[in-house]
Amino acid sequence: MDNRVIREEYAQIAHELIQTEDCLADIRASEATIVYLGSDYEKTTKGKKVCAECEKISDKYKWGIPADFTITVFEKNVVGFTDDQMKILLLHELLHVGIAWDHNGKEMYDVRPHDYEDFKIITDRYGTEWAEVKERDIEIQYKPLVVEEVKNGKRTEFKEAKQERSTRARSKGR
Ligand SMILES: [Zn+2]
Repeated sequence: MDNRVIREEYAQIAHELIQTEDCLADIRASEATIVYLGSDYEKTTKGKKVCAECEKISDKYKWGIPADFTITVFEKNVVGFTDDQMKILLLHELLHVGIAWDHNGKEMYDVRPHDYEDFKIITDRYGTEWAEVKERDIEIQYKPLVVEEVKNGKRTEFKEAKQERSTRARSKGR
């Protein structure tokens, strides 16, 4: 079974991330709509637990799902997650939201793949074990990530947040 329900609490966390994270500037500049869901399905892929997934909604389903993307958390697979881990998880899923602008300024959407099993910017910052639930002996602290460089609308490199926020990312509205 895969019962999915709308989760306002994930939407709130994600909304804050979109407003504050430079690496999510594309979403901030875009009109894309995202619906956040919780599922009771214990999804696995190749024997590994899947914590969440990001899907692009194709036009033929938009009569039923009024959104461009859904982000679904498989809640039984994230039991014991701290608030910071949930934030990193949602950041991970939001990094899958791929937005590009064609030469007419029209938005195009797709699901961005990660570099390996995760996004490099996340593993660089939080390590590969950020989704592990242990006996509270790992302390993973959420720290914001910023885009280092945006070239031709493509993210090329990411870097740790500095004190100063990038105005370049904010003013980007192509
Ligand atoms: Zn992923």
